[in-house]
Amino acid sequence: MARGRQADESQVPRRESSTVTRSDSTPRAEVLLQGYSLDTNAGLAGFCMVTLVEGLDANGEPKRILFDPAHVGRRTLLWDALARRGLGPKAIDGVVLSHSHWDHIQNIDVFAHAPIMIHPYERAYSLKPHRNDWATPAWTGAILERQRLVEVSEGDQILQGVRVVEMPGHTPGGIGLSVESEAGLLVIAGDALHHARVALIGENPLVFWDREAARSTISRVVKMADVIYPGHDRVFRVTKDHSIEYLEEFQMTISNVSDSLDDLDFEVVKPSQWIMPDIQEQRAARAEFEMAAGARRGQVPGSVEDCWVQWWEVDPEVPKR
Ligand SMILES: [Zn+2]
Repeated sequence: MARGRQADESQVPRRESSTVTRSDSTPRAEVLLQGYSLDTNAGLAGFCMVTLVEGLDANGEPKRILFDPAHVGRRTLLWDALARRGLGPKAIDGVVLSHSHWDHIQNIDVFAHAPIMIHPYERAYSLKPHRNDWATPAWTGAILERQRLVEVSEGDQILQGVRVVEMPGHTPGGIGLSVESEAGLLVIAGDALHHARVALIGENPLVFWDREAARSTISRVVKMADVIYPGHDRVFRVTKDHSIEYLEEFQMTISNVSDSLDDLDFEVVKPSQWIMPDIQEQRAARAEFEMAAGARRGQVPGSVEDCWVQWWEVDPEVPKR
């Protein structure tokens, strides 16, 4: 099931174990679980990219951030991916949520000890999602609020050389991270860029919030990034001649199909865009949840000098049962 170009393995360094040291202030990102654009006629697989970001905090202390913990159907794979690097869930110091869709957030309880970073609009929206928003079920806000949330927004510095980039459009408060790595500026984009083709087309395939905002987000990410970590695809870059160069190999094994099914069909689907029905109602909701977000401001440590978010000083509360 290989597709796209063959990746040059030397471009994505692999490490057997994961360690950050005080002497190395350059942050780095590593894919823990690959993202896939896999849809089936039996339902959505929803396999988002899960990325580990390592670097130093404002005090020069090594920290590990997990970007998008994925859904519960991948929990054991996430445990395994951490274990292969000699890590357990407790080795993760903080979690960043690109947005609150089901397939990106469900494993947050694995990291109950860690502050969960989310954009204030996304948090407010998740408490009152639109009735047609099938990717943000009504229970989303409830599972987020069980954890210790830290609201972050544009320019906030999470680690040295790691900043929040606002990416609205797919959802109200989508965020990504820019990582000033040795390989250039990495941008971890979540579903602001589902897959590489989005970078060429310039349109988000699933718009729950604002089509224009989604377009601007894609164009901004493509302009700023040397390397893009998309929501549901492999790490890639856009070349000077405007084509896609994948930096990871594609690998997937599908089990329990051939023995029990007569046929497995592969279908090439043309790019299309789904815009949530009644999306115009989101404009009316915007003011309401902006107010809700504003009311909570100041309840968590805010940005200080050089936009540092002191997230590591947040005491996680024991999750409510
Ligand atoms: Zn999404």
